[in-house]
Amino acid sequence: MNDCIFCKIAAGEIPSQKVYEDETVFAFRDINPMAAVHILVIPKEHIANVLDINESNSAVISHIFEVISKIAKDEKLEKGFRVVSNCNEYAGQSVFHLHFHILGGEQLSLKMC
Ligand code: 5GP
Ligand code: ZN
Repeated sequence: MNDCIFCKIAAGEIPSQKVYEDETVFAFRDINPMAAVHILVIPKEHIANVLDINESNSAVISHIFEVISKIAKDEKLEKGFRVVSNCNEYAGQSVFHLHFHILGGEQLSLKMC
């Protein structure tokens, strides 16, 4: 049984504010936004985090970045935005389904961590 909240969001079993969807990728607004625009982009396939990306599943990662580029333009983020993927404890990963945060829509802190 899969209890992953992001698998359920991608399957439409848990509601979300969807921004983009295709066969392999889903994007939705973060429930607790850390910037004026805060969108999460995920593969529909369950991958726990960056450490689990390998040659058998990495095609979706390049596609995710094509989607990020499209979303950034749709959201008018050309002045600047940040893409972040937290991995494991030291980075504070709280949902163990790979996701890329798109943060923008305002001046961001210039400190990365
Ligand atoms: P992490 O801390 O793992 O990098 O990021 C997880 C993100 O998922 C957090 O920013 C959190 O606000 C967001 N999140 C957690 N649960 C939900 C949910 O049910 N719906 C939405 N839209 N975002 C969620
Ligand atoms: Zn999952």
